[in-house]
Amino acid sequence: MPLQIRREGVVSFLRQNLLTLLTVIGVVAGTFLGWGLRATGYEWTRREVMYFQYPGELFLRMLKCLIVPLLVSSIVSAIGSLDLSLSGKVGLRAIIYYMTTTVCAVMLGIALVTTIKPGKSSEAFQQPNATKIITKDTLTADTLLDLIRNVFPENIVQATIASYRTRLTYDVNDTKAIKGHLETYKIEGDYQKGSNVLGLVCFSIVLGITLGKMGEQSRPLQNFFHALSEAMMIITGWVIWLSPLGVFFLVTAKIMEIDSFSELVGRLGLYFMTVLLGLFLHGFGTLSILFVIATKKLPCRYIAKMGQVMATAFGTASSSATMPITIGCCDEMGLDPRITRFVIPIGATINMDGTALYEAVAAIFIAQLRKVEMSFGKIVAVSVTATAASIGAAGIPQAGLVTMVMVLDTVNLPAEDVSIILAVDWLLDRFRTTINVVCDALGAIIVTSLSQADIDKTRAVQNNDREGPAHELSDLEKGEH
Ligand code: ASP
Repeated sequence: MPLQIRREGVVSFLRQNLLTLLTVIGVVAGTFLGWGLRATGYEWTRREVMYFQYPGELFLRMLKCLIVPLLVSSIVSAIGSLDLSLSGKVGLRAIIYYMTTTVCAVMLGIALVTTIKPGKSSEAFQQPNATKIITKDTLTADTLLDLIRNVFPENIVQATIASYRTRLTYDVNDTKAIKGHLETYKIEGDYQKGSNVLGLVCFSIVLGITLGKMGEQSRPLQNFFHALSEAMMIITGWVIWLSPLGVFFLVTAKIMEIDSFSELVGRLGLYFMTVLLGLFLHGFGTLSILFVIATKKLPCRYIAKMGQVMATAFGTASSSATMPITIGCCDEMGLDPRITRFVIPIGATINMDGTALYEAVAAIFIAQLRKVEMSFGKIVAVSVTATAASIGAAGIPQAGLVTMVMVLDTVNLPAEDVSIILAVDWLLDRFRTTINVVCDALGAIIVTSLSQADIDKTRAVQNNDREGPAHELSDLEKGEH
C-alpha cells in the first residue's frame, strides 16, 4: 500500500509540475546540445545558428506580442477595481519593497566586489577582441532626463513602439565640438525602436485611478480592460506550453554563437563568480529574510513553485517576456489577481535587483582593472547610478549593458570599457534576469500579505453597503465570489 501511495504521489507531482520539468529539461538539454555542437569543431556560421534559433525566436515573438496588451489591461483593470485608498497603499508598499531590495542588492554587490577584488588579480586589462563596442554620445544627465521624459510620453500610441532618446549632434565646422566637448553639441531627440514601457505603466496607472474614481459610468471600459487582461492570460496559458521547446532552441543557439569559453573561466572568471555569488546571496539570502520578516512564512514553498518562471527567465533573458508567465504563476499560487496584476507589470519594468547588483560589481571591477581609486564618495555615486540604471534598463536581453555606460561615467571610465565584460555578459544576463523575476514574484506575495487586512476591511465595507440599497455586482466582483 505505501508503495501505491508513493506512486500516486509521484504521478500527481509529475502532473502538476510537468511543464516546469520539461522547461528545465529544455534548458539543460539546450546547454548540452550547444556544447556538443561546438565540440564537433565545425565552425557554425551565423546563418546556421539563426536557423537553430528560429523555433526559439518564434516562441519569444509570441511572448513579446502579449506584453503591451497584457501590461496595459492588467494595470488598468487592477487599479480600477481596487478602492482608491487601497491602491495607494498597495502601490506605496510595492515601491518601498522595490527600493529596499534594489538598495540591498547594490550594497551586497559593492561589499562583495570590494572584498573579493576580482579586478586586482585579473589579467583582463588587455581589451579582449570585442566584436561590439558601445559608444556613448550623451551625458549621464541626458540619460536620466530621458528616463523621466519617457515616463510622460507625448503620444501613447507611439509609446507602444518607440521610446525617446536624446541625441547630441555637432556641426562639422565646429572645431570645438569635434574635439569632444559634449557640452557644445546641439541637443536633439529622436525615437528609437522598442516600447516605452515606463510611459505605458504611468499612463495605465493614471487611467486606472480615473476609472476607479468615475464609478458606474466607467463600468464598460473597466469590463473591457478586465476581459482583455483575462484573454491575454488565456493566450499565455497556450503559449507557455511551447516554453520547453522555445528555451531549448534559444539556449542551444546562444551557446553555439558565443566567442570564447576560456574568458568565462580565465580572465573574467573571478568577476563572473563575484556576480554569481552576489545574485545567489541576494536571491536566496536577502530576499528570503525580507520575505520571512514581512510574511512570517518561509519562502521555500513559494520559490519551489516558481520553477517555470525561473526557467523561462533564464531561457529568454527578458523579464518583460517572462511577465505573462510570472502573473500566471502568481495566479496559481492563489494571490489576489488585483494585486498581482498591479504589482508584477510595474516590477517587471522598474524592479531589477539582479541588474542593479551586476551594474555595481561590473563598474567597480572595471575601475579596479583600470587602477582607478575608489573613494567613499565615488562608491556612493556608483550605488545611486546603479540603482537608476537598473530602473531605466528595459526588461530585454542585455539591457543592463547599455545603461552600464551611465555607471561607468560616474567613475570617469570610458563607455568602451563595457567591452571588457562583453564575453560573459550573455550568461550573467540570464542569471540576473532570473533573480529579477523571482524578486518580482516574491514582491507580489509580500505586498499581498501586507495588504490582506486592508483588502478584508474594504470587502467588509462593500458587503455592508450592499446590504443597504440594492447594488448590482460588477463583473470583476462576481469573478471574486
Ligand atoms: N535582461 C534583464 C531583464 O530583462 C535586464 C538586464 O539586466 O540586462 O531583466
